[in-house]
Amino acid sequence: MKSSHVGRIMNRMVEVKDKISAEVLPLMEDFYTIQGEGFYQGYAAYFIRLGGCDVGCVWCDVKDSWDASAHPLFHVETMTARAVASGGRIAVVTGGEPVMYDLSLLTKSLQNAGLRTHIETSGVYPISGSWDWICFSPKKFKTPHPSVFDQADELKIIIYHKTDFAWAEEFAAKVKSTCHLFLQPEWSKEKEMLPLIIDYVKSNPKWQVSLQVHKYMNIP
Ligand code: SF4
Repeated sequence: MKSSHVGRIMNRMVEVKDKISAEVLPLMEDFYTIQGEGFYQGYAAYFIRLGGCDVGCVWCDVKDSWDASAHPLFHVETMTARAVASGGRIAVVTGGEPVMYDLSLLTKSLQNAGLRTHIETSGVYPISGSWDWICFSPKKFKTPHPSVFDQADELKIIIYHKTDFAWAEEFAAKVKSTCHLFLQPEWSKEKEMLPLIIDYVKSNPKWQVSLQVHKYMNIP
């Protein structure tokens, strides 16, 4: 019984994979909110959360995004029209892991409509599309593709354990000199990790603290 259920999901994923293209992508949700993290924290932004992720972070707070076949397929022009209708100026493409897909037509459509294109990615595949801002947030669960190091405008490291500071420095040494560096506590470990981050940033001022302020504001 269980194996036939898994088999049905796998069959659905294959079917969906065949239909995904640069024009048509799986959309988990889209919404207009305030960017809560990193360099653009506090700016109004339209979030486009694509379905599908093969990174597998144990602490992932959007595990429902992992299965691309669980999310409806949308044409990129429809996504753009919804973003434009929000009145926002920035479109943040996130996931899931958006770089699993060819994003060239989505970014072209968004930019043609006058929107800034921002992406949040773990950088595990080469990044397609035209981006005004790339937020690179590597994860220990899958090695990033080296092409992302020169492209990242912002490096955001999620601190889950005290050993993550040394891991963060490995990436800080690889990104370009103009890349902004952020340390952000993993939400469930915030009480434990935030004091360590504060001390670390005071001793290593090339870094900045990033907090998920949207969670304090009770907005998505
Ligand atoms: S890369 Fe993002 S969506 Fe994928 S498992 Fe990690 S936190 Fe979740």
